[in-house]
Amino acid sequence: MNCDLRNDFPILGRKIYDKYPLVYLDNAATTQKPRQVVEAMSDEYYNVNANVHRGVHFLSQQATDLHEAARETVRRFLNARSASEIIFTRGTTESINLVASCFGQAMMKEGDEVIITEMEHHSNIVSWQLLQARQGIKIRVLPITDEGELVLEGIEDFFTPRTRLLSLTQVSNVLGTINPVKDIIRIAHNHGVPVLVDGAQSTPHFRVDVRDLDCDFFAFSGHKIYGPTGIGVLYGREEWLDRMPPYMGGGEMIKTVSFSGTTFNDLPYKFEAGTPDYIASTGLAQALDYVNSVGIETIEAHERDLTAYAMQCMMEIPDMKIFGPSNLDIHDAVISFQVGNIHHLDMGTLLDRLGIAVRTGHHCAEPLMHRLGIEGTCRASFALYNTREEVDALVEGILRIQKMFA
Ligand code: PMP
Repeated sequence: MNCDLRNDFPILGRKIYDKYPLVYLDNAATTQKPRQVVEAMSDEYYNVNANVHRGVHFLSQQATDLHEAARETVRRFLNARSASEIIFTRGTTESINLVASCFGQAMMKEGDEVIITEMEHHSNIVSWQLLQARQGIKIRVLPITDEGELVLEGIEDFFTPRTRLLSLTQVSNVLGTINPVKDIIRIAHNHGVPVLVDGAQSTPHFRVDVRDLDCDFFAFSGHKIYGPTGIGVLYGREEWLDRMPPYMGGGEMIKTVSFSGTTFNDLPYKFEAGTPDYIASTGLAQALDYVNSVGIETIEAHERDLTAYAMQCMMEIPDMKIFGPSNLDIHDAVISFQVGNIHHLDMGTLLDRLGIAVRTGHHCAEPLMHRLGIEGTCRASFALYNTREEVDALVEGILRIQKMFA
């Protein structure tokens, strides 16, 4: 990886306490933003800003063009068939909630079933529990092995005549497990069941092609792929989106409104009520352009190398327990670990004092923590700008903290 890329991320040059430079290993929570993203957004605020759609004046049309060009950038990034299948949301969480709410309302009755997995983020659990409370649906949970892989033997038994949707993550934000979603989608489709893929942790790390996956819905967040906060995407096949009612009312989602009734706009606007975050969509498009300019395959190769190096170094630390698959082919750039009986919060806090940012806790996956019989972990997660020297700093930091506790 070209070291000059780090210069695109000014925050990486920050001194934290008296430590320089910052070692930022919390990328699964959010990535840092390159100048190109921030500058495109401030440029739009300074020079273009106007509300999008329906404006007859120059600035409104220019802002609309930028917003719709961003949608096209996302379409290309995911290789979706049509830009009408790309809905801007606030992030993965909102995308999943939208499906649970709207697909749930249109397609699910009391007693119908959704299948999720034991390694899901709360967004992909609680959205379905809300639907369960509203409509009496049932949630079935695919188990995982102790190493954190989905148990696929017996998956056929999870499909019943009442199964309406399978919703699962492509990459676990805790274990780093890369799930074989393409195979799982094929199995689900054999049972006539559509599939929602949570791509929050996959899109930043390797190429995603929704047509190749053949998924029915795909969700991801801008902020985890070098883009701004407050914007994400729901890809949905037109055939499903057409059959779903709107999510929220107001703004761009209408065609006509009267007190006796309202007609809804075409896709994707039917699902985009209110003023969209058109500045963030520009930022997201810039982020995806940035990823494309570095090359997603280059990013993937770099992060795989880094993950393998980190695993190798970390395994040499006495009393180190690393969660997730030992097979690195299916272990993405996320390493959750626990060192002896040092509490993850102590480890994270002390690493922070050494200028190393990691995440600690249950990582919004409490049911997974219960399955693993733990309260939480420390998690280091990598992005395109991380280096082997930063992995060395992490390892040295852990060893130092371990000595303090000895
Ligand atoms: N799913 C997974 C797998 C995640 O890692 C996250 C973020 N940690 C989410 C969903 C939720 O993403 P957001 O908070 O951006 O909506």
